[in-house]
Amino acid sequence: MHEAHQYAKLENNAVKCSLCNHRCTIQDGKYGICGVRMNRQGSLKAMTYGKISAEAVDPIEKKPLFHYLPGTLSYSLGSIGCNFHCEHCQNWHISRAELEGAMLRELPPAEGVKRAIASGSKSISWTYNEPTIWHEYPLDMGSLAKAKGLGTVYVTNGYITEEALRELAPMLGAFRVDLKAFTDDFYKKICGAKLQPVLDSAQLAKELGMHVETVTLVIPGLNDSMEEQEKLIRWVIEHLGPETPMHFSAFHPDYKMLDRGATPVATLEKIYKKAKALGLRFPYLGNVPRNSYENTYCPHCNTTLIERQGFSSRFVALDGNQCTNCGEKIEIVRHVS
Ligand code: SF4
Repeated sequence: MHEAHQYAKLENNAVKCSLCNHRCTIQDGKYGICGVRMNRQGSLKAMTYGKISAEAVDPIEKKPLFHYLPGTLSYSLGSIGCNFHCEHCQNWHISRAELEGAMLRELPPAEGVKRAIASGSKSISWTYNEPTIWHEYPLDMGSLAKAKGLGTVYVTNGYITEEALRELAPMLGAFRVDLKAFTDDFYKKICGAKLQPVLDSAQLAKELGMHVETVTLVIPGLNDSMEEQEKLIRWVIEHLGPETPMHFSAFHPDYKMLDRGATPVATLEKIYKKAKALGLRFPYLGNVPRNSYENTYCPHCNTTLIERQGFSSRFVALDGNQCTNCGEKIEIVRHVS
C-alpha cells in the first residue's frame, strides 16, 4: 500500500491530510472526504495509487485545452473518487464509485509513460476524476513523462493546497481548472467546498509557470447572471492575465441536477461578447456544436487562426506563435521543452 505525501501525524493515531483544502483530520481506520485516502494505524495511505478506472487517447481539445499543444493527442487517465460532491457531476459513475467493488486495473507509472508514447500522444492528462486526490501517482508518472519530453496536464477543480501544488510544479505543464462560479454560496451548496482556495490555486499555478485555462459551466438560475460572470472575468483578467483562455460551457441536465434545462446559446454568446469587451483575449464557448466561438481569432486583427469542429483543429493562419496576417504574438504552447 502506497504511503501518502502531504500529511501530518496527530495524537491517538489520527492524521491530518494537507493535499486539498478540506484538510481532513482522519481517525485510524477511516477515509478522508475523497474516499481514497485512508488512515491505517496512524499512517495515511494513497489507496488508488497506480489504479486506473479509465484510459483513453483524446484530442487535447476535449479537456478542453486550446492553447497547450493544440491539435495533438493526450494520453488520458482517470481513477475513482472526488473531493467535491457536485450535484451535476458528469462523471459521477467514477467520481462517486467506492473502492470496494470498483473496476480498477493496475498501471505502473513507467508503463503509463510507455503507453502514452506508443499512442502518439504529446502529453499525459490526469482527468475524468479529480487528479489532486491521486497526487502521488501523477507526480511519479509526470516526472518520468517530463524526462521523455511529454507535456503534463491536470484537469482539476483547483482545490489542491499550496504545498501540494508546489510539490507538483516541477513536473506539471498545464493546469486546466474549473471556475465553477464566483460565489462562495455556489461552492458551498453545490460542491461542498469554498471558492477562495480555488482562486488561490489558479493564481499560484500561473505564478509557478504552468499554462492555465479555465472552464465555467454556465448553469441556468445558478451562476448565469451577467453580474456574476462579469466579476469572474474581471478576476481572471486581473489575476491570471487577459491572455488566459476562458471556456464558457453549456450545461445539460445530469446526475442529481435534473430540475432545469440546458443553457441557451444566447446566454453563452452574451458572456462571450462581454468577455471580449472587458479585454479578455481568448474567450471560448463549449458544448455548443458548430459555434464559431470555438475558433481562435487573432486578438489584434480578428483573423481566424485555428478553426475547430468538434474536437478537431485546423491551423489556418498561425505560423509558430504568430498571426500570419498581422504578426501579433499569440500566447499558445506549441512544444514542451
Ligand atoms: S485529499 Fe482527501 S483526505 Fe486529503 S484533505 Fe482532501 S478530501 Fe481530505
